[in-house]
Amino acid sequence: MEHTSWIELNQKALAKNLSFLKQRIGDHCVFASIIKGNAYGHGIEQYISLAEARGINLFAVYDAYEAYRAWSVKKPETELIIMGMLDKSQIEWAIVNGIALFVFDTDRLYAAIETARKLKKKARIHIELETGLNRTGLDADDLATVIPLIKKHSRYLSICGICTHYAGAESISNYLRIQNQIKLFRDYCKKLKKAGITAPYHSACSAAALTYPNTIMDMVRFGIAQYGIWPSMETKMHNLLSEESAFKRNPLKPVLSWKPKVMSLKTVMQGTFVNYGNAYLATNKMRLATIPVGYHHGYSRSLSNTGHVLIRGKKADVVGMVNMNMFMVDVSRVPGIGVGDEVVLIGKQGDLSISVASFSEMTKMVNYEMLSRLPYQIPRYVV
Ligand SMILES: *Cc1c(COP(=O)(O)O)cnc(C)c1O
Repeated sequence: MEHTSWIELNQKALAKNLSFLKQRIGDHCVFASIIKGNAYGHGIEQYISLAEARGINLFAVYDAYEAYRAWSVKKPETELIIMGMLDKSQIEWAIVNGIALFVFDTDRLYAAIETARKLKKKARIHIELETGLNRTGLDADDLATVIPLIKKHSRYLSICGICTHYAGAESISNYLRIQNQIKLFRDYCKKLKKAGITAPYHSACSAAALTYPNTIMDMVRFGIAQYGIWPSMETKMHNLLSEESAFKRNPLKPVLSWKPKVMSLKTVMQGTFVNYGNAYLATNKMRLATIPVGYHHGYSRSLSNTGHVLIRGKKADVVGMVNMNMFMVDVSRVPGIGVGDEVVLIGKQGDLSISVASFSEMTKMVNYEMLSRLPYQIPRYVV
């Protein structure tokens, strides 16, 4: 049965983003595609095959559930990394299937070694270092325990990476903190190297790679940028205004659009309240369209009286409250409108577009939150 709206994934846009980002990091740097949060709302299953078709063969997820979904659809040669949550039985599943995992505390390391010994199969691990995000990662004290442990059990471990994560590379206000993290990461890597432990180094997310080139190293973990969205306005401006900038136009193209159809039309007289309560009073005779999407579907209630959509190439404002399953827009200036017309909530229509950034701004959400909250149930189609 059809859902009330659908999501389109634009493969041409993805191809452009990937080639721009690959060119930024160079041929020798590995592109890791981050697909946590249901591939930032794009749909893990649909997104993996699209990215694989464009040469991506390494994906990172947050947990075992996401890994399972990725593992079920990926090509056999495509590799996976789990960056976050795993319980004991899931660690076993990951090792059996050759899926790499982040080791960010000593418990995780013990569990990986123990499981690998039991399975007689090496655990593939990425050593995550605590450099100042103060979330997950091995600090100097942990390393005193971890280094001898790794050396002693090296036959149970395959070290696939040594990594860290920055505390907000998308904002200039974190500049000093990031610089300190880069320095500390280098120090820790040296320490590990001295102990004979080396592996590809990786630290950059989208914002770090696009703002601080020295964070690019052997691999970059690209999340939001591959989907054609800048991590922040600052990152966008930094790139578009930089002197070396080889491009005059925005090189990132949004991959995702979100669309329902007009459900119903109605005319209301001047002086009537529209929809629940007194949130909107019609000041003229108005033509209204009902859109069958509400906060249940991820169209935030905070867009009540403030959001807008595109219909027949024209902008139509949200009037009144966003309900659980529907909201209304003013279509008085959309000639020829009919039930079943395509409505754009996010995306382009004619010369107009509604970006993820503007949508997020209106809802006081960051792009990341807005995208990853799009419900799983909405079907995703490749166009
Ligand atoms: C989410 C995440 C990324 C990707 O971040 P973007 O800002 O979307 O590029 C990279 N590394 C880790 C550890 C992450 O959790």
